[in-house]
Amino acid sequence: MKNEQQPPLQLKFLGGAGTVTGSKILVKTDNHQVLIDCGLFQGLKELRLLNWRKPPLDVAKLDAVILTHGHLDHCGYLPVLVKYGFKGPIYATKPTRDVTGIILRDSAKIQEEDAQEANRYGYSRHHPAKPLYNERDVERTLPLFETHPQDKWIELNEEMKFCFRNSGHILGSSIVEFECLGRKFVFSGDLGRRHPLLMHPPALLPTADYIILESTYGDKLHSETSPYQEIAEIVNHTFSKGGILVIPSFAVERAQELLLILNTLRQEKSIPPMPIYLDSPMGINVTELYLNYTDWHSLSPAECRTMMHDVHIIRDFELSLHVLDNINPKIIIAGSGMVTGGRVLYYLEKLLGDKKNTVLLAGFQAPGTRGSLLRSGANDIKIHGSYYTVHAEVKQIGSLSAHADQADLLWWLSHFKEAPTRIFLNHGEAQASEELRLKINDTYGWNVAIAKMGATYNLW
Ligand SMILES: [Zn+2]
Repeated sequence: MKNEQQPPLQLKFLGGAGTVTGSKILVKTDNHQVLIDCGLFQGLKELRLLNWRKPPLDVAKLDAVILTHGHLDHCGYLPVLVKYGFKGPIYATKPTRDVTGIILRDSAKIQEEDAQEANRYGYSRHHPAKPLYNERDVERTLPLFETHPQDKWIELNEEMKFCFRNSGHILGSSIVEFECLGRKFVFSGDLGRRHPLLMHPPALLPTADYIILESTYGDKLHSETSPYQEIAEIVNHTFSKGGILVIPSFAVERAQELLLILNTLRQEKSIPPMPIYLDSPMGINVTELYLNYTDWHSLSPAECRTMMHDVHIIRDFELSLHVLDNINPKIIIAGSGMVTGGRVLYYLEKLLGDKKNTVLLAGFQAPGTRGSLLRSGANDIKIHGSYYTVHAEVKQIGSLSAHADQADLLWWLSHFKEAPTRIFLNHGEAQASEELRLKINDTYGWNVAIAKMGATYNLW
């Protein structure tokens, strides 16, 4: 029976609240339900287990999913939704659709391979270990996409409409401006920096009743040092030791930034002419998208050529293992960025034990990931069921980030002409969100809440 007291509009955070992964926000009225992002939980086991429960919403009543961008923590749960009967549409920009296709196919493959390995070596508690979804599930998901350009309003139904605005985070990434029953929402998605390395800066919006703002780096300021300088120092240091530099990298944005920086440094002779290997099938495919979608980033054709100049591309897994036949200094960029899976694991198995080598962590490392353990100085790391002692040097740089830092977030907010009714902070660890909440409160005096996972907010 319909409850006449039911508030007409609800916001429910089903993921990406109190954590940076699993982003899912449900907007719900009496008549319609739309999900903003549909991400996979990653990192800590208690979070990853959430991927395996029944979807925390009524899939049959879901009208649509709107994707801000193609990172796994924003799109990686879509195939599960489809397994549970979701028939679309999934709204996204064209580059986001293509990035998502690459990311989901890779995710399915990694999950299938992990399950196979677990069964082969018997290190899973589940018998047999199964993937969360497979490539077939992904191929059923991708046709559900409906693409739209940025800066064009799309009518979803008689109550809701939305518009993609540039967010400056990765290729195709968007802020979602959303109107529902006379109220304006701005979902930041992942917000880029004020001066992104490869992207156009985020769109500045003048009005919103509710802002749902990411807070990944809500308590941090990125290093002011140039990433070119930081990386040159690490490359030269590793070369002087006669070692190999391994850079676990996210396939989207980070791999392209690294290629541009390393190749520019090599051309300027700021680093020795060490061979550069890109061993990330996904990174290679995403780099091709950058070359196709020239309007969606700020690289000139000359910079695109520099990015790809004399890079050894490794598509075939068999070849991965041969890269180390020759132990001369070299640079290897391999996925995944938080060392949660992918080819980088095979390199680390062989290279971690020698202090000549360097592992460079060039991105965010979520708690519970191998990347976060390496960063915090762990003595050994478990890979494929065995422990490997870490003798290699582990370095990290803070100057490369596709996320706004605290100053960027405050700068972006400063363009709203009036105080919103409320800001919800999501997509951040507790400390990051809390510091940003205090900062916004002190700076603008606005009403800020930290979104709680699973909580429903009734908005009048
Ligand atoms: Zn992202």
